[in-house]
Amino acid sequence: MEAPENESFRDSIGTIDQEGKRAWVYPKKPSGNYYKKRKIVSYLLLTFLFAAPFIKINGNQFLMFNILERRFNIFGFPFWPQDFHLVVVSMIIGVIFVALFTVGFGRIFCGWICPQTIFMEMVFRRIEYWIDGDRNKQRKLDRQKWNAEKIRKRTIKWFVFLIISFAIANVFLAYFIGSDKLLKYIIDGPFQHLGTLFPLIIFTAVFYFVFAWFREQVCIIACPYGRLQGVLLDNKSIIVAYDHKRGEGKSGRKKFRKNEDRKELGHGDCIDCLQCVHVCPTNIDIRNGTQLECVNCTACIDECDHIMESINLPKGLIRYASENEIEKNEKFKVTARMKGYIAVLTILIGVLSGMLLLRNDVEARILRLPGQLYEHKEGNIISNVFTYKLVNKTTEPIENVSFKLRKYKGEIKLVSTSDNFNVPEQGLAEGTLFIEIDRSDLKGDKNKLIIEVYSGSELVETTTVRFLGPRSYN
Ligand code: SF4
Ligand code: SF4
Repeated sequence: MEAPENESFRDSIGTIDQEGKRAWVYPKKPSGNYYKKRKIVSYLLLTFLFAAPFIKINGNQFLMFNILERRFNIFGFPFWPQDFHLVVVSMIIGVIFVALFTVGFGRIFCGWICPQTIFMEMVFRRIEYWIDGDRNKQRKLDRQKWNAEKIRKRTIKWFVFLIISFAIANVFLAYFIGSDKLLKYIIDGPFQHLGTLFPLIIFTAVFYFVFAWFREQVCIIACPYGRLQGVLLDNKSIIVAYDHKRGEGKSGRKKFRKNEDRKELGHGDCIDCLQCVHVCPTNIDIRNGTQLECVNCTACIDECDHIMESINLPKGLIRYASENEIEKNEKFKVTARMKGYIAVLTILIGVLSGMLLLRNDVEARILRLPGQLYEHKEGNIISNVFTYKLVNKTTEPIENVSFKLRKYKGEIKLVSTSDNFNVPEQGLAEGTLFIEIDRSDLKGDKNKLIIEVYSGSELVETTTVRFLGPRSYN
């Protein structure tokens, strides 16, 4: 986009003043078509965000990220530490998807989907408008002395913020420890589970700090995704953009005067009313072009559309457009870079789907005991000792588990349990086993054995091990 003559705005960020202090932002309450649509999207996403840890599919929590126990559920599929490669592939797919989206549609994710924006703009900010009033009233209240009105409004606002932060912290915890545990802890009472109460208080404090004070600084200073836009965006990406050709005209933007022929005078359509700046939650002037602070929230589009309507000019002076669309009237098209991302994404999704299809609900790992070779036993028998670990990823127990050898006639003896055993739901069973084979059946000093794991008469998993025997039996 054509660079504005004065680039000094790039030397600082919109929320820090000349002395380096925080410039508190009092954005005007947005209204308009995009805001209405964003509200619908936001409330749907909020409902999803609050409900997801409490929805279960086949007994599995819909979304869970239990880092401590290293158990993850994604869309109701349980993932164990053994499935870590699947989590890594899913994360790579997520990153490429966001990159593709950013190349094509800028920071649309920040404005419409990011939980930080949704909570800030659609929950906390709306409560603030409701208690403190719109921009001017908020500024006045901030400047005024601590009288009864200010104390009352601040107390109510901060208390409501605290309650909401506490609610968010509880849901956040449900994602980590599981909703069943959370509900149990609530019923038992917080003091029965001090180990969980402590992180809950910390989460509440962090959310309160972010939404009551730190606010848009998260997007500007802390979020790495915002920083990436400089690398990902190009002049074909769709962003929230000011049409400077139309807005500046031949002789630049000018204040509106009734009965004046702006075209004739060469004035642009921008009447320099600053409403797009006043409504901006990151306190920037979009007329300066793309800036790292812009979260593509569309509030300035709505605000400028209201102004254009009121002075009988076409809407869309600020709109979703690429730099090339504004400069060269070039329509959006899928670029070679985007095609590259789509190709990689398609391959990775194919790989992930294959991995998910091949993934077993039961995983058996049988390893020879380190440092042990083989043992001769009475009756021409060779014995090897192994350890086994069976992981049950389902929500049903696996009952009557037994091991059998495929092809070989030998026996498998469990050390701890002489009979069949069970593996609990979403749990594991470990132990030691001996495999005993008549030495005349062995084909060499290293024999590949296939071990079948049965639940009753149903084969649930197969795995291979190396069985050692004496060299002379080749
Ligand atoms: S709201 Fe529109 S007309 Fe007003 S200053 Fe911004 S771009 Fe110009
Ligand atoms: S410039 Fe417009 S789209 Fe960007 S953050 Fe400000 S109001 Fe939102």
